[in-house]
Amino acid sequence: MELPDRQICYRALQSRDARFDGLLFVGVTSTGIYCRPVCPARTAKFENCRFFGSAAAAQEAGFRPCLRCRPETAPDLASWRGTSNTVSRALALIADGALDGDATSVETLAERLGLGERQLRRLFLQHLGAPPIVVAQTRRVLFAKQLIHETRMPMTQVALAAGFGSVRRFNEIFRDLFHRPPSALRRTTSARSAGAEAGVTIRLRYRPPYDWDSMLCYLSARAIPGVEVVESGSYRRTVELDGFVGSVEVMHLPEKQSLSVTIRFLNVQSFPAIVTRVRRLFDVGADIETIDAHLSCDPLLAPLVARRPGLRAPGGWDGFELAVRAILGQQVSVAAARRLAGQFVALHGKPVSNGDDSHSGLSHVFPTAQRIASVNSIALGMPNARLLSLKALAQATVADPNLFRPVGTIEEAIERLRTIRGVGKWTAQYIALRALREMDAFPASDVGLLRGVAIIDGAQSTSASLLNRAESWRPWRAYAAQHLWAADAAAVAAS
Ligand SMILES: [Zn+2]
Repeated sequence: MELPDRQICYRALQSRDARFDGLLFVGVTSTGIYCRPVCPARTAKFENCRFFGSAAAAQEAGFRPCLRCRPETAPDLASWRGTSNTVSRALALIADGALDGDATSVETLAERLGLGERQLRRLFLQHLGAPPIVVAQTRRVLFAKQLIHETRMPMTQVALAAGFGSVRRFNEIFRDLFHRPPSALRRTTSARSAGAEAGVTIRLRYRPPYDWDSMLCYLSARAIPGVEVVESGSYRRTVELDGFVGSVEVMHLPEKQSLSVTIRFLNVQSFPAIVTRVRRLFDVGADIETIDAHLSCDPLLAPLVARRPGLRAPGGWDGFELAVRAILGQQVSVAAARRLAGQFVALHGKPVSNGDDSHSGLSHVFPTAQRIASVNSIALGMPNARLLSLKALAQATVADPNLFRPVGTIEEAIERLRTIRGVGKWTAQYIALRALREMDAFPASDVGLLRGVAIIDGAQSTSASLLNRAESWRPWRAYAAQHLWAADAAAVAAS
């Protein structure tokens, strides 16, 4: 793991430089505490400082998280992206809970990624400074700490929501780290606790800038009637996970450089998965400054980046849902695809009760793959080949639970998707980009992209020449694509 030299790290600390937030953590040997570079506490002596590139590395070295600057609120950056695909895939699986609970093992995780346990451990130490098990443990501790500080959830719910197998284990680990029970960390003056049934709001910090308007505009144009609502600056949708149904609402807090996420979901054990989905959908972890700087090296793309600094590449909420959207979007406009998606949901989605205001505008959950795989026919007004393709997609999703998971290389993932009837090159690349979060995926034959690149180049392009042109945008072609799509959408709206 590459860190700047100690003098530079220390200067970042002395000036409380926010640019290092999420990229640098400091452990203070005299106190045993680790902090973000922006900690308001008095700066420790140089000789007492140890610097780390991840919170897990600081915890691996025996430091505990600071209660003032709260390392769990640092932006969780995907700075390892592009350096090791295996590490980023492993982290995605860990965030999905692959190492939570007693029955899990690093060996199984390594197996899923197609390598040995020792090899995975070595990669983690190299890129994150901590082995997988400590990374998972740190994630649980920090998420629990965030729930303790930001919500009024009872401790039993916090333990389960953060992925601890039992309340006893949660208590043990917190006593070990902080020398007091978890409840003693809560500073709230309110005596009454409020559980998940009342709705739980937490903040997810990002690295600025964040082009929220473009994100909402993108989501609004594609919002599936009944499942998603974009209004008054917020995004709301229904959620079905682990047999439970609820909703999530996301808003922007620009002055806090955060997204506010309200989860209304009874099964607290689904919280990590819900937060992971919100992070993916809103691309919260992008190291956006680095990406924008890289894309600005292309003089013709630079003006687009300057027009929309902090433009994110939205992810898919769910792999199957995203793939259905991709198929519905084949050969038709965004508006037509959205209408079809609305009909699809009305026909096959499960209705939800919309008795309370928090669900206003939300009437259905998106149909699961199981449901679509078992229906006799899909009664949508579109070519029969595409209906068969939807059916084949549902069957493939049921048959392979890893279909939308990062397993193997991007080329392998594309190949796997292309074995599904009706999934061609464009659809597979689009699914890889949005659902698998391959930030270098690039659907070069997309009409919107071809129109977008014609705007900056002033000349028509073919998918072959665009592919060539996109070489210099690697490893972030997905972001270049997002800029081209945005430019195209603006041009269409202006015409
Ligand atoms: Zn601190």
